[in-house]
Amino acid sequence: MTGVSETDLQHRRDIVAACRQMTALGINQGTSGNISVRVEGGLFVTPSGRAYDEMEPEDIVFMRWDGSWDATPGNVPSSEWRFHLDILRAKPEVNAVVHAHPTYCTILAILNRPIPAIHYMIAVGGGNDIPCAPYAQYGTSELSDAAVAALTERRACLLAHHGLIATGPHLRKALWLAVEVETLARQYHGCLQIGEPPLLPDAEIDSILERWGQYGLRDRPAIEAA
Ligand SMILES: [Zn+2]
Repeated sequence: MTGVSETDLQHRRDIVAACRQMTALGINQGTSGNISVRVEGGLFVTPSGRAYDEMEPEDIVFMRWDGSWDATPGNVPSSEWRFHLDILRAKPEVNAVVHAHPTYCTILAILNRPIPAIHYMIAVGGGNDIPCAPYAQYGTSELSDAAVAALTERRACLLAHHGLIATGPHLRKALWLAVEVETLARQYHGCLQIGEPPLLPDAEIDSILERWGQYGLRDRPAIEAA
């Protein structure tokens, strides 16, 4: 097992705990969720096909930035490792990536519907929507490229016909964001039962982002007047 320092062991424990939390929080579907955390020299990523209640810290796979990993008995990285690696490489401010197939996010993703500015909390994603990356088969570099592109100016995105990716400066924040986005998806889904909901103007979301002190997220196209 590479990286047996106390810090690494804590990361491994945190990942196992977060996996179980995903189930408790209702954002996981079976073992479809997976998690990665940036560590020295690469990332820790959840193993493929292992039930969370049986997962132990030593099952978490260490992957180097070149995509190679240390074989540990019975464990290979999640089949979704590629976008975890690529997102962490592309976004230095991100230290944790959470992926799952939460029901309401996935419903919208099946319909290829980004979540628009139905609620001011949309700004948790860093802008006025939670975008939806176009469909590509799981585990492929095409899917990874689509996810990285959708996350260019956002902290979370939907994956068409698939699920959700949420990122964060640390694992707790990424997990929190995944729950927030699933809540927004649920609210949007509820609105759509009645009709197309009115949206908050871009300027209002920009104002919220300012209040939250997220000036670094404002390098996006000029905001139209409300
Ligand atoms: Zn998936």
